[in-house]
Amino acid sequence: MKIKYKIALSYSVSAFVLLNTFAILAYYFSAQSRKAEYLERLEYRARSIANVIIEDDYVKVDLLRKLDKTTFQDLYKETILVYSPSYELLYSNVKDTAIRTPRRLLDYIKKNGEYSHERDNGELVGVFYTEGSMSVIVLVTSFDKYGFQNLQNLKQILIIEIIVAIILLVVIGYFFAKRMVQPIDKLVEQVQTINANNLQGMTVDAKGKDEIAQLGANFNTMLERLSNAFDLQKSFVSNASHELRTPLASIISQLQVSLSKDRSREEYMEVLNSVLEDAQHLSDLSNGLLQLAQSGLDERQFVFNEVRIDELMLDMGNLIKLKQMPATAGAEPQKPRRVDIDFLKVPEQDTDLICEGNESLLKVLFLNLLDNALKYSSDNTAFVTIDFTGTAIQVQVKDNGIGIPADELDKIFEPFYRASNSHSVRGHGLGLSICKKIVQLHNGQLTATSTPGEGTTFTVELPHRHQ
Ligand code: ADP
Repeated sequence: MKIKYKIALSYSVSAFVLLNTFAILAYYFSAQSRKAEYLERLEYRARSIANVIIEDDYVKVDLLRKLDKTTFQDLYKETILVYSPSYELLYSNVKDTAIRTPRRLLDYIKKNGEYSHERDNGELVGVFYTEGSMSVIVLVTSFDKYGFQNLQNLKQILIIEIIVAIILLVVIGYFFAKRMVQPIDKLVEQVQTINANNLQGMTVDAKGKDEIAQLGANFNTMLERLSNAFDLQKSFVSNASHELRTPLASIISQLQVSLSKDRSREEYMEVLNSVLEDAQHLSDLSNGLLQLAQSGLDERQFVFNEVRIDELMLDMGNLIKLKQMPATAGAEPQKPRRVDIDFLKVPEQDTDLICEGNESLLKVLFLNLLDNALKYSSDNTAFVTIDFTGTAIQVQVKDNGIGIPADELDKIFEPFYRASNSHSVRGHGLGLSICKKIVQLHNGQLTATSTPGEGTTFTVELPHRHQ
């Protein structure tokens, strides 16, 4: 069942139950008050009769008979019976002389002084009245014609009111429910038009401050993230295939050219060196892609241990010094690589420099940063400083290299992004995105500051304990 019908139905049913309860209560209390009022009236009538007929210790039934013939009887279908204390019928306004009151009733009235009772054909009131030495039992019955008529009218009015109210309730309920649900319907309609192909720039209405507007706003945020993720994925795939195709095309064309005729030994050597360089590039790229895929995995896939960051940095420093760039034919010999490691504070305890992490991933992180610092600087030197606080270890990798233009600083962490000033240096733009993911896996932070022409500083912050 649609929400609008559910709202309209529950609203109408609850209003109907409420209305009915009020109507039943109104009818019940009116009936009660009619009965009490009428019995009181009959009792008053019985006492008046007794009061009128007893005079000077004598029961003047004739007076009653006379009065009865004139205006005395003003109640509908009224019967008056007057008995003596010995249950002798002194007066009856009913022609039917067979009418007799049960003895038990007379006993009761005599004993208790009064009696009242509601019957189908009217109410009955009996009183035992004493004045001086004389007593009489007066019984009056009558039918409250007008009272019952009023009650009947009330019943009809209430029933008509309820029927009209139900019709109005259903119409109003449906109208309000429809109005309330309208934004949801609109949202559903808009969402139905969105698919993977038109995700870009799509938004749904999110005006207002209610929950539906909030839902729309959240949905828009999700759409934006999805759209970015789609874009990133698309550009990643096209970048990756481009990066793979270029060296492969170069290898193929170089081999085709060299095979087209006989070459000298030197020529073959030159081609093989060039092909080796391209193959090296392909190997770096596939390693990078593999690392990127791994660093994007769930952290639960990795084993986290205590890692001493200073020792790790010393190892990586030594390792990177050995890893020279492959010599390109005809190029000048490279300057030796240098890594300066400095401690800003002397650690008081071992734990100051220990973080909980995955050693292999942390090695990839620092190797990439050191490699960049060395390859983008002409002095081939990386300056590392190690510092720590109560909660984190901070490692900075600086260089005096080419720097990064300010407007490109936040893009260098995207896969395959290479700054505009770095195209003369070999690379494929994957290293920093891998670094970023590794640091995120360790709940840390990776930031960069740079001045073009002067140098770049990458700062890694790793918490001591991995949460
Ligand atoms: P790659 O170095 O293979 O191009 P990275 O992801 O490691 O890929 O770096 C992305 C880009 O960031 C580089 O192409 C370069 O433009 C810039 N970059 C990274 N490190 C430095 C650095 N130390 N100095 C100057 N530019 C850098």
